[in-house]
Amino acid sequence: MRDTPSSAAPRVLRVAVPTPLRRLFDYRATAAPPGGWQPGLRVRVPFGRRQVVGVVVACRDDGELPLGKLKPVAECLDETPLPADWLWLCHFTARYYQHPLGDTLHQALPVLLRQGRPLAGRVREQWQLTASGRAVDAERLKRAPRQAELLAMLAQHPHGLATPAVLAQGFTRDQLKALVAKGLVACRETPRTAATGPAADRLLGEPALPLNREQAAALAALHEGLDAFHPCLLHGVTGSGKTEVYLQLIEAVVARGRQALVLVPEIGLTPQTLARFRHRFRVPIVALHSGLTDHERLDAWEAAASGRASIVIGTRSAIFTPLARPGVIIVDEEHDGSFKQQEGLRYHARDLAVARAHRHAVPLLLGSATPSLESLHRARCGDYRHLRLTRRATRHAPARLELVDLRGRPRQGGLIPPTLTAIRETLTAGHQVLVFINRRGFAPTLACHACGWLAECDHCDARLTLHRQPPLLACHHCDRRRPLPDACPACGSADLRPLGSGTERTEETLAALFPEVPVHRIDRDSTRRRDALERVLAEVRRGEPCLLVGTQMLAKGHHLPHVTLVVVVNADAGLYASDFRALEHSAQLLEQVAGRAGRASHPGRVLVQTLHGDDAHLRLLAGEGYDALATQLLEERRAAALPPFRFLALLRLESPREAAASELGQRAAESLRTWLAERTLAVDCLGPVPAPMERRQGRYHLQLMLGSAKRSRLHEATAWLAAWLEATPEARRVRWSLDIDPQTLA
Ligand code: ADP
Ligand code: ZN
Ligand code: ZN
Repeated sequence: MRDTPSSAAPRVLRVAVPTPLRRLFDYRATAAPPGGWQPGLRVRVPFGRRQVVGVVVACRDDGELPLGKLKPVAECLDETPLPADWLWLCHFTARYYQHPLGDTLHQALPVLLRQGRPLAGRVREQWQLTASGRAVDAERLKRAPRQAELLAMLAQHPHGLATPAVLAQGFTRDQLKALVAKGLVACRETPRTAATGPAADRLLGEPALPLNREQAAALAALHEGLDAFHPCLLHGVTGSGKTEVYLQLIEAVVARGRQALVLVPEIGLTPQTLARFRHRFRVPIVALHSGLTDHERLDAWEAAASGRASIVIGTRSAIFTPLARPGVIIVDEEHDGSFKQQEGLRYHARDLAVARAHRHAVPLLLGSATPSLESLHRARCGDYRHLRLTRRATRHAPARLELVDLRGRPRQGGLIPPTLTAIRETLTAGHQVLVFINRRGFAPTLACHACGWLAECDHCDARLTLHRQPPLLACHHCDRRRPLPDACPACGSADLRPLGSGTERTEETLAALFPEVPVHRIDRDSTRRRDALERVLAEVRRGEPCLLVGTQMLAKGHHLPHVTLVVVVNADAGLYASDFRALEHSAQLLEQVAGRAGRASHPGRVLVQTLHGDDAHLRLLAGEGYDALATQLLEERRAAALPPFRFLALLRLESPREAAASELGQRAAESLRTWLAERTLAVDCLGPVPAPMERRQGRYHLQLMLGSAKRSRLHEATAWLAAWLEATPEARRVRWSLDIDPQTLA
């Protein structure tokens, strides 16, 4: 197969279509768009019995099939290809995550473009009469009355009319083209956007803060590398002024006419965060969040791709925003789990940010108070520049964790007497208290006191959570709901009792114990309405004494200046979990929660209730902080040959039939091991083993884990495995997916 020499029109187009199949499809080229056929053009093509929107990946002279056997392209949807940087990122992502290219492109496009809507051209077309158009004899267009009307309309606009204005009057593009062909109308094209950034004196809406010594040193280091790939870890405690450093770095980038892309965790894209950016800068900012309509999203995408927007800020998927003049990529709270997509295309936006910054040769800034062990390791071995902010920008040092032993003490709503005393004292002093409990609902489950029966989901290996508002049993894994039973389904006893505490129960207990102050519960159930969270937070920021009870929704991002006591109801969930990252993640969460205490004028306290007060990891975290624990965890990972010292990939298999998944898993493992043995690839293959929650939503989950000290080797092995699965008929009856660099083994 030969690529087409650039002069000739290609006869075959290789197209990526949205399908789980890991291959491209050839189509016969039809009439070329104005700029000729090129990779990156969207096309509508017949696929099976439907038509789908695909993207041209290559233009060829011939394909594997004779030309006559190929179906023709139905329609070309673009005049110019999709942005090159975006195409590169999609190719990279598909290759790195071993995901079908067609589906990757599809996922990375705004919905309207997936559906085939036109993309606003990168030039603005202005239609106006030519000299002969102005002089034309009415007779000449007698047989084309609409064209005559169009000509008359354009005659009233001597400076020309843009395409949308013409179309809005009921004329068509074909009528315009016909008049152009007759030499009566001309089209003048002007670039849609100014290619340069805003003038430096119009950049800021408010002056930047004078930086403290550490912030200034960090910014100076960042300024050294504005024209190259320059990866930095901004490692600074909560409230140390990382955001101020981002803002001033962005200012420098935008002043040079470039764009900034800022990724924030799902929970971090609050109106407060946006307001901070919008107050600081007068340049156009687009925010990509879940509340946008499809049209707004497309608009934002085009604003970024054309360079109209100087700053793009968004959650995970914003990494797929094209940029006309990339200048910096910033990932805030880089350790946050929401940057990893956990289904379908399982990409990690932070890791793609690294690849993208490298490709664009621009600085990359990863910020966190509790960096992921991956990033911390790279900073410590010098791959990333390690910038430290050790002090809070405001007055108080971050609070230390105080461990509170739960053993043998009576609990009310999960809280023991010394904790309740501390809460009372804080409220009496006129301050606010945040009670963190990472379980929504009333109680983790319902139990029968007579026979020990526990409410369990019929579809998952999981307990049902008891909810009171409204009363029901719900599975948090498959969302199935059941009414509350009147009696135990096993023994008939009516003595059914809630076991343990969730947010609703703690809220109820606190409301009864402290009737003089409001109790606000913040979790997924209480904030279903879009503005509910912001309403509560606005109320809380007024500063009256109150109690906040919430899940990790409360732990991140929000500035709660009047909270001086933080209570962690139970720190134990992550301590003994089987997942090798559980400890890292719970330490990050605990530090984040603790960071909510004492951010304004009063110092804070953090009480951490635990049944394992002598646990070595917990003591290290409480005594010396996250960095010390991270050092210890990195040593343990090194000893156990786990990431970041080894690279992992997971093959997940699921099926309603246990045997189907397990047979395929066995065969895949055997074939892979045979293949590996022939090549001495230094990749090992573990399993198949049942997933930690084997049955979920009525399906059996199994996994095969691949590991290697060399990323390229792991890559070869997973690519081979994917090809094997594609070619194996039994694999069609089992749902399978690859997870490269899995964040969790669950
Ligand atoms: P982080 O992002 O590290 O949590 P922020 O940038 O949000 O920290 O800063 C915490 C608080 O300190 C904010 O209220 C911010 O306005 C303030 N702040 C940051 N830098 C400075 C500074 N150089 N001088 C005074 N206040 C600052
Ligand atoms: Zn019973
Ligand atoms: Zn379930």
